[in-house]
Amino acid sequence: MWFIVLPVFPQDSTEVPVTKVVQLNSHIWEISIAGCNHVVSIGNDGVFLVDANYKELCRYLINVIDSLGGKEVDYVVNTHWHFDHVGCNLIFGYNSKIISSKKNLELLSEDRFLLGDTIKALPYYALPEIVFDDEYRMRFNGEIIEMFILAGHTCSDVIVYFPESNIVHIGDLIFGNMFSFVDINHGGNVLAIYESVKKLCEILPVNTKIIMGHGMIYSVEDLRKHGEMVKYTYDIVRKKIESGMSPEEIKKQEVLNEYKEWGKAFSCDNWIDYICESVKKNKQ
Ligand SMILES: [Zn+2]
Repeated sequence: MWFIVLPVFPQDSTEVPVTKVVQLNSHIWEISIAGCNHVVSIGNDGVFLVDANYKELCRYLINVIDSLGGKEVDYVVNTHWHFDHVGCNLIFGYNSKIISSKKNLELLSEDRFLLGDTIKALPYYALPEIVFDDEYRMRFNGEIIEMFILAGHTCSDVIVYFPESNIVHIGDLIFGNMFSFVDINHGGNVLAIYESVKKLCEILPVNTKIIMGHGMIYSVEDLRKHGEMVKYTYDIVRKKIESGMSPEEIKKQEVLNEYKEWGKAFSCDNWIDYICESVKKNKQ
């Protein structure tokens, strides 16, 4: 979920979205289109793509994959159910196999309410067809790809890990160098983000390249520091709540002022709200 650069690109728009391609190793690239970051593996087995952007931007994504030597997309992973990660399912769903968790299939199968808007269920052909409970592994382009679930941004954030390449895509679990959106109504929780980040830091070798749905590429050290920020800010706000303050009072005190520059896509006040909601849920 990404709001600041949320573009509306009609199919006939002449406006080309900002696109960036970073080669991560011999066969894996990060492709960024309009602020949404994908990982793509291209090789003898074909094309394996992480995340599926907005439907309107699909042709740009296909063009980049094409320019990197990829043909048809064989597999697409949806890291979670938000529309900027599943939009191209409406195109890829005809010929590609879409992979995600069972929980995400459930979330995508019905109309849902998100931030004042009704998000329509995806049609049957665009839904994930390879679904898993906890983890899924496959061999593709000469290496094992491991997919497993952590939570925090939503209740079911699929992590896509290429252990032999030391590359991982962590969906929207966090946003690089900024406060992230937390989908509280669909199982997101700030404390769970911290716990998931901590777990990742234990699993990932230090030289792993960490790609996320929005924001810069992280090292494991960057990820560890981000996790510390999450826990530190959570504890500051939690203590204020425990002292009897309301979210509005906490915001007025500007308790997260030292992280003001992190409020790029979502502000300090948004982050305080997510923490307040999380604390409330964690008490239940
Ligand atoms: Zn999201």
